[in-house]
Amino acid sequence: METSDSSKKYFTKRLTAWHQTDNDRSLPWKSEKDPYKIWLSEVILQQTRALQGLPYYLRFVEAFPTIKDMAAANDDDAFRLWQGLGYYNRCKNMLNTARFITNDLNGTFPDTYEGLLALKGIGPYTAAAVASFAYGAPNAVVDGNVYRVLARYFGIEEPFDTTKGKKVFALLAQELLDKKDSAAYNQAIMDLGATVCTPRNPSCNDCPLQKKCVAFEQGLTGLLPVKSKKTIVKKRYFNYLLLQWKDTIWVHKRTGNDIWQNLHEPFLIESEAPLDANEVLSHELFKKEAFIHKDISYTGEVSQRLTHRIIESRFFIVPLLKKTDISDKEGKWLSINNLKKTAFPKTFLSFLEKKLYF
Ligand code: SF4
Repeated sequence: METSDSSKKYFTKRLTAWHQTDNDRSLPWKSEKDPYKIWLSEVILQQTRALQGLPYYLRFVEAFPTIKDMAAANDDDAFRLWQGLGYYNRCKNMLNTARFITNDLNGTFPDTYEGLLALKGIGPYTAAAVASFAYGAPNAVVDGNVYRVLARYFGIEEPFDTTKGKKVFALLAQELLDKKDSAAYNQAIMDLGATVCTPRNPSCNDCPLQKKCVAFEQGLTGLLPVKSKKTIVKKRYFNYLLLQWKDTIWVHKRTGNDIWQNLHEPFLIESEAPLDANEVLSHELFKKEAFIHKDISYTGEVSQRLTHRIIESRFFIVPLLKKTDISDKEGKWLSINNLKKTAFPKTFLSFLEKKLYF
């Protein structure tokens, strides 16, 4: 690891000069000073690439131009706008925070890193981003881009996802920060990580840091940064029954501490392995006397990868001969023509699009 003072000074100087002359990455929230819009963009961009997040940001700003508008939003409207971004807890926390700031803080964002960090759902990264971009506070952002640029340039082999590693990177990032213009510096390091020092095939020949970069000099770009924990991806099997009564289907809102909270889905049977139609028929729903249906038919599957899970979903159509009470207080019969007005997980949307419901 090469962290001499001269190497650190060189880093900050070259990075900020590059930002002024060569950084042409353009995104609508750059140079934004409104803490609400900066916060909104940061919430959307957690776990989401900038280009994917961009249309969502624009839609949210149009629907809710101020934090008060977001605080007054109907939950379902906000979830529908969020549809397709995943990690729906982000949307839920965002609405809660907007309501807290509007009702308890008179609609004014805290203007310090510590004040922002005290808000629910705002972690060190978002607090530093809002504090520096909106108020010029001297706080360095540390995200995946920053870990990568620092690990490679300084040749840091410490894993970035351990308590010790997080501390090493946070201290170094804070030391390197240009305190006179923290907003420009933070933007520069994130943009360099996103456009030049990319996870695969970094453009070292276009990089302002190449001359003193340890990873470049020692051929370590493919090995840095180091992650200690390998993500274990598990499969979950969802078997969905599309209970159809005339031109309606039955859906319910997901609740509880699980994925896709507050989104709607058809009747779900989760299993240890994918079920076929005969296995589905042994579910207790089909034993109810009032449950009278035509033949069940398998109609396709959709696979969706989340960070730690792969969700394998199979869909079965079950036309009913009589409207049945499914005894689920979050459930309702929804007109097929109105499906677009409801917020669904991406998996179910893909199915609906494939089967031309939309
Ligand atoms: S020289 Fe290459 S590896 Fe080093 S910081 Fe620049 S892009 Fe990253």
